[in-house]
Amino acid sequence: MYYGYGRGLGYGMGFDPMYILVIIMAILCMVASARVSSVYRKYARTRSMSGLTGAQTAMEILRRNGITDVGIAHVSGELTDHYDPKSRMVCLSDSTYGSNSIAAVSVAAHECGHVLQHYTGYVPIRIRSAIVPAANIGSKAGIPIIILGMFLSFSPLITIGIWVFSLAVLFQLVTLPVEFNASHRALIMLEEYGILGHEETDITKKVLSAAAMTYVASAASAVLQLLRLVLLNNRRR
Ligand SMILES: [Zn+2]
Repeated sequence: MYYGYGRGLGYGMGFDPMYILVIIMAILCMVASARVSSVYRKYARTRSMSGLTGAQTAMEILRRNGITDVGIAHVSGELTDHYDPKSRMVCLSDSTYGSNSIAAVSVAAHECGHVLQHYTGYVPIRIRSAIVPAANIGSKAGIPIIILGMFLSFSPLITIGIWVFSLAVLFQLVTLPVEFNASHRALIMLEEYGILGHEETDITKKVLSAAAMTYVASAASAVLQLLRLVLLNNRRR
């Protein structure tokens, strides 16, 4: 009985059932990011009742929390909003900075949520900041090390590659509580400070949960990829 060829197909880096799952997850990531753009665009046309812009919202939230050493910057691009803890800048994109839409106000409040996480010493964001350098190495070098290990048929190198890659996966996982918590803080502050009305925060929930789904999809995709690498490596041995 000869089954060597079938084995090679099933156990190599080529076709395997997990690979189909990885592809499905990659598609889900694309769907999630297309959805956040469409939800954002939809509510970017709905003006908030208070009329505050994204930048004014951020200013108001920082003021209310007594934060005086964080600035607000206008950055180019769409949905490129972020908080940069190094320069202490809330960076708001073209569609957020000067817009008074509910979508813009929601995103600005979310970024301020990240500011407050840093200020209150929120543990997951501290862990995330600490592993950024390792995660960067992991996402760049992990897969190339694994491929090199397979090319040289040197198992220890593959194992090292998997460990390095798992740092990038860990980063994606720690990102989840950080993002959910920033959105949660945003919702509470927008209502408490009277920046948005109760009905308006329903839209905030929609916008921010669509954004959160992109993080969930990419974390799930990364976990799946890691799992597949571990299984393939175990089968090789
Ligand atoms: Zn965020």
